[in-house]
Amino acid sequence: MIIHLKESVSRQQAEQLAEKYQSVLFENGNRVLVTSSKIKKAAPELEQVADKVFVTDTDIQLASRQYLSAKREINMGDFTIGGTTNNTLVITGPCSVESNEQIVAAAELCVELGVKVLRAGAYKPRTSPYTFQGLGLQGLQLLDEMRSKYGLKIITEVRDSTHTDEVIEYADIIQIGAKSMYDHGILRKCGNTNKPVLLKRGFGTSLQEFVQAAEFILSGGNAKVILCERGIRTFETKTRFTLDLCGVAWLKEYTNLPVILDPSHAIGYAYGVPDLARACVAMGIDGLLIESHPNPKVAKSDAEQQLNFEEFRNLHVSLKKVAEAVGYQII
Ligand code: PEP
Ligand code: MN
Repeated sequence: MIIHLKESVSRQQAEQLAEKYQSVLFENGNRVLVTSSKIKKAAPELEQVADKVFVTDTDIQLASRQYLSAKREINMGDFTIGGTTNNTLVITGPCSVESNEQIVAAAELCVELGVKVLRAGAYKPRTSPYTFQGLGLQGLQLLDEMRSKYGLKIITEVRDSTHTDEVIEYADIIQIGAKSMYDHGILRKCGNTNKPVLLKRGFGTSLQEFVQAAEFILSGGNAKVILCERGIRTFETKTRFTLDLCGVAWLKEYTNLPVILDPSHAIGYAYGVPDLARACVAMGIDGLLIESHPNPKVAKSDAEQQLNFEEFRNLHVSLKKVAEAVGYQII
């Protein structure tokens, strides 16, 4: 149950109520208390101080349409996604920042095509400890230079608690990866910032668990959460993962959060990325994340799935037409 407290309720009073009724308190314009969804009726004491009460079916609460019937809008400075914008934000860049030369090439491709957000990882969550783990802080600094030089927004991922603050400081949009999405330390820290957070779905994570992870960020007071479907593990091994478009339809119907799709990590092979990307855009989505690299063959991570620049340019042209056909526009 979500309770918007009356303006007259002081911070101290709200804290006491939160403790007494075992609820989470956060401020986001209003002071808000969130109790377990199992509680379906507010205690008389709470009713007296409540401005509005929302009852939800499950612990998908702040992210639910029962709470906010419209999709949340997320403003990123020069542009907005979600709400009624019908914008599909294209995000591209290499899997990892590898060198100055490589990231400059990626930034210049964004500028050439009018792509507003450059994405690359500095702290990579690799499956093996013996492979490239990312440039760390040096990678973040290179991304920072791309932001100042080219006016691009930067999205980069937090892998673990050793660098969460660093990533929050450097990124315009913080990515939480599929392997880190259960880390409550990361989720809670992201709840304390007001920067947008792109939360990826773990590859063995149910939709319920996925959105409940988002609740940790939302209930920290950060309303700017974007969900990202990037493929789940099924019996199929010919492709890396299986992009769960049914899940995306469910997220669109039952949550109030913008949804971005990542076909690159889902299929894991460049040959299928353009077709999948067009299928994603045809669903009417808030964004698309595509890995691209100036020379994918020599990429230090996810080499097989990254598009080369020519492939990305061609895809970008075709995405505009698909988006237009379903009443969206590529930004
Ligand atoms: C990535 O975005 O490069 C990445 C490692 O993704 P995921 O967390 O979805 O595996
Ligand atoms: Mn990658």
